[in-house]
This record gives sequence, structure tokens and C-alpha cells, in this order.
Amino acid sequence: MKYPAGLPVGETWVDAPSTEPVIFPYDGSTVADAPVGDVELARQALDHALAVRDAVERLPSYVRRKALQSVHATISAERDAFVDLLVLETGKPLVDCRVEVDRTLLTLETSAEEVARLHGETVPLDLLPSGDGLVGFWVRKPIGVVVGITGFNYPLLLASHKIAPAIAAGCPVIVKPAPQTPLATLWLVHLMREALVEAGAPAAAVQLVTGGPDVGATLTTDRRIGAVSFTGSAAVGHQIARDAAPTKVLLELGSNSALVVAADADLDAAADAIIRGGYYASGQACISVQRVIVVESIHATLLDKLTERLPAVVVGDPRSPETRVSALIDPKSTSRVRAWVDASVASGAELTYSSKDGDLLGPTVLTDVASGQLAWDEEIFGPVIAVRSVPDLETAFATVNASRYGLHASVFTSSLDTAFTAIDQLDVGGVVINEVPGFRSDVMPYGGVKDSGIGREGPRFAIEELTTTRMAIIRPR
Ligand code: NAD
Repeated sequence: MKYPAGLPVGETWVDAPSTEPVIFPYDGSTVADAPVGDVELARQALDHALAVRDAVERLPSYVRRKALQSVHATISAERDAFVDLLVLETGKPLVDCRVEVDRTLLTLETSAEEVARLHGETVPLDLLPSGDGLVGFWVRKPIGVVVGITGFNYPLLLASHKIAPAIAAGCPVIVKPAPQTPLATLWLVHLMREALVEAGAPAAAVQLVTGGPDVGATLTTDRRIGAVSFTGSAAVGHQIARDAAPTKVLLELGSNSALVVAADADLDAAADAIIRGGYYASGQACISVQRVIVVESIHATLLDKLTERLPAVVVGDPRSPETRVSALIDPKSTSRVRAWVDASVASGAELTYSSKDGDLLGPTVLTDVASGQLAWDEEIFGPVIAVRSVPDLETAFATVNASRYGLHASVFTSSLDTAFTAIDQLDVGGVVINEVPGFRSDVMPYGGVKDSGIGREGPRFAIEELTTTRMAIIRPR
């Protein structure tokens, strides 16, 4: 961590009204005391962002691109330090934190490249007789101040998906990270501000205020902002959408992602993927496998393959490169996940596999989980998968679609027909064939349908969301 004390508000770092310890979830030790902002600082950040809005909108493309490239270079050089910090503040296994930093780098790199593709086009206005002789073209204009609110699980990556497209588009941005995990985001914001100042731009183009819902709500409900870009739970996202109206809101929310196994699937590949996709980040990922929907004829074989493999999943210290499952973000989350598992079992589900290491919750498999159970209907956000057998693929696809969520879904099959049917029929933001639903490259359009969200991220798509078109119609004289 190499950033100043306080919070980056305006052109400098200002004193924070209080501090809170950031806790290493694995052993409860204090990682650092983090500055905590308040409503007054949030208001000041809004005023500063509005004051620099014109200047940021007018920053030349080469300046925006250079600033993003420069942060990419610094984080590449500090990759290991960022990984170590993420392990400590999130408790996520080292392997997952490495992926997070690499994806952050891709997000910065792609955002820098997208600056060169931010252009409009001409329009043939003379398709109407009244347009004969007119010249038409449209350009993209930045939407104004962006407020980016992020969840705790991938703090650096989620913040990069708010900051980099906003700067690429020419929008000032204020970030409010999750209270549990502000440290890597503070460092990223520091680097971004240094790069902007170096390139001749105002530091206040990127600001950060920490705090809870009161700070978040102060930022999102200010009518002077252009857009809210939120990543977090469906409950909070829907609250923000209601409170922020009529401001444009992008919502990247949760899910209970399904993985379907067809009778013609490679069952070894499917079993490997269920374990990889269900337990990475200790199950605290918005597209981790939660519901496994298996065609009945291969149900028993697949369960055998899963239980054979599960003992090899290492549960333990997230700093070890071998570890795949570690502590959830806090003891309250662990208790909640345990309570959901217990409630399912009390209602007739079978606990087919469970493991633990001390207080850590290890990989868990529930079978015969009925609809109406939290572990099936809601996002469990822990290392738990719920398996259900269905008579055929038609029922499997209907079961995927019966969820109120729709982020990603996977289908394991060797049939091209089944793959295309799934792509056509599954009501989700992304259909993945023979890979985990958690596959995401930051260049793709990413987002959900139904309660999983509104709008798309991935730099190209986020930039479209954070800009508006302005049409020019000219009658040359
Ligand atoms: P959360 O919804 O509890 O909090 C997210 C953020 O919202 C935090 O910064 C929090 O302080 C803030 N917040 C809370 N109330 C607010 C209010 N009224 N106004 C403004 N801000 C407010 O989410 P979390 O527990 O930190 O993160 C986990 C959730 O995020 C899961 O549901 C997960 O699926 C989701 N998530 C989604 C994606 C995606 O890309 N779709 C990615 C990562 C995480």
C-alpha cells in the first residue's frame, strides 16, 4: 500500500472523520486502519466532481488514454503487492486474487484501447425527401459525473470497471467501495489520480469516499450526477434504482447460477467444472455455480464423480497457493450460509457432502433441494452447491429459467443442437457451453436480466452506457 493518509476528495487527500479496522477474514487480525468518510465528505466530493466536469469532458483522447496506460504499467509492476493486499482484505484464496489483478489489468488496457474507438458516424439524412441536401452525423458525449458503488468480493476489479470506462468516456467518477474491503481500491484511485495529474488533468476526476449506506445514498440520490454504476446485491441495487430515479442506473447484481448436465455430456469435464465453478473465491462470486441441474439418467454417476473429487479441494489459509476455499468475508456470512444449509436439510434436502477446517466452511453439496428453499431460490454466496435431477433437458432449461435471477448459465453437452437450443432459450445475460458459468473475460459484454441487473459492463459496453449520442443536422450554405 503506497498511498497518502485520508481520503482522495477534491485535488488532495483530506482527513477522514474516523477510521475502521480492515479485518483479515481468515484469522481476524487487523490488516490496516482504513479511513471512513461521511455524508459531508460525500457532498464535497460531488461538488468537486461537478466543478471539474467540463475540464474532464474536454480532456483530449491522448491524455485519457495515456493516464489509463500509465496505471496499467504501474499495477503490472506492483502485481504481487496488489495480490497480497487483496488476499488480506478479502480472505479470498491467492489463486483467485491473482486472477483478479490480471483481469483488472485487462480492464485498464481495454479501456485505454477503447478511447481510440470512441467515435460516431454519419447518417444518410437524404433518405427522406425533406432531408435532401442535409448533412448528418452523431458524436458521443460523456454522461456527466459517474457514481460507482462496489461490493466486497472483487474490490479492485469492480472498481476498475467503474473508473476506467468513466475516464475513457470523459466522465469524472466518485467511487464508494464496500466498507469491508477499501484498501486496494484506495491504492488504485491514488495511482489513477497521479497518472491524471501527470497527464495534465485534474486529480478530482477520480475521487473516493468510504462509508456505509448513508454515504452511498448521498452520492446516488444527488440529481446533478449523470449515472450510477452499482455492483452488489439485488436488494441494495433495487433500492438504489428506486431512490436514484430518474438518474440512469446500471446494476450488476447477484444470481444463483445454474449449470445443466445433459445425458450426452463429458461427465468428467462436468464434474471438474462444477467443483472449479462452485468453489472458486469460496463461492463468493456472482456467477459461481449454485444450482446443478442434471438429467436423471446420469444423476448418480455425476454425484459419484463429484464425491470422488471433493476431498482434494484444499480448505485453509488463503495465502497458500494450494488453497481453493477459505474464510467467508465475516463470521456473520458463515453463520448465514450454515443456517441456509441447515434449513434445507430440515426441509428434506440431503447433505451429500460437507467438509470444514476449524471454523471454515468447506465445499458442501446438497441434493434434492426443493424450490422455496433459500439455498435454491436465493444467492447463497458461499461454498455450497445444490444438485437436482430432472427428467429431460426441456425441464432442465425451464428450471434454469424459473429463477428470479439471470446472470450466466452453463450447459455441458456434446450436442451442437442442445448448445444452440440453450443459447436460444436460456433467459440469462450469458450462456456458456462446456465451461463454468463463472467464465468471464473483461472484454465481453457482461450483465444480467431479471433481478440480476440492468445494463452491461466490459469497457466497450460500459462506455456506451456512460455516454449519450448527440446528433448534428446541418444544412450547408
Ligand atoms: P451489498 O449490496 O451489500 O453492498 C454493495 C455496496 O453497496 C457496498 O459498497 C455498500 O456499502 C453499498 N450500499 C449499501 N446500501 C446502500 C444504499 N442504500 N445506497 C448506496 N449504496 C449502498 O453487496 P456486497 O455484499 O458487498 O457484495 C456481494 C454482492 O455483490 C453479491 O450479491 C454478488 O453477487 C454481487 N456482485 C455482483 C457482481 C456482478 O458483476 N454482477 C460482481 C460482484 C458481486
